[in-house]
Amino acid sequence: MFRIKSHRCKECGDRLNGRSDKLFCDDGCRVRHHRKSNSLHALKRGVDHVLQRNRSLLAALRKSTFAGYNAEDRAFWLRRQGFDFNFHTHVLPLKDGRLAIMCYDEGYVLDGDGILPWKDTSRSSGSLAPRSLS
Ligand SMILES: [Zn+2]
Repeated sequence: MFRIKSHRCKECGDRLNGRSDKLFCDDGCRVRHHRKSNSLHALKRGVDHVLQRNRSLLAALRKSTFAGYNAEDRAFWLRRQGFDFNFHTHVLPLKDGRLAIMCYDEGYVLDGDGILPWKDTSRSSGSLAPRSLS
């Protein structure tokens, strides 16, 4: 029976000899590989932390306490609370051609030097939902 299964070290790509369940050529490669994947985990956790904070600040901005704030006040408040404008999950095109910048299910729209909280108008107006005519 032929076993022409060349497998390679997951870290350095060198050809591995011997047992087919080996993943690395030696302990050095194994340690380097795990260190890298741990730092990716840490990076992901860091990004998610920023996104979660952004999201909760945007949610807080919807409260009536902020009704008197103008667009610049809101952007200033967000920045002071630690909102990071470099991080978002996606952008959402609006009917008027602008883009809502989203952090999960919360978002904002740029307005001059400030921001407007994004409102889920499709949900509140029900325009996309089937209407019952009873
Ligand atoms: Zn290796």
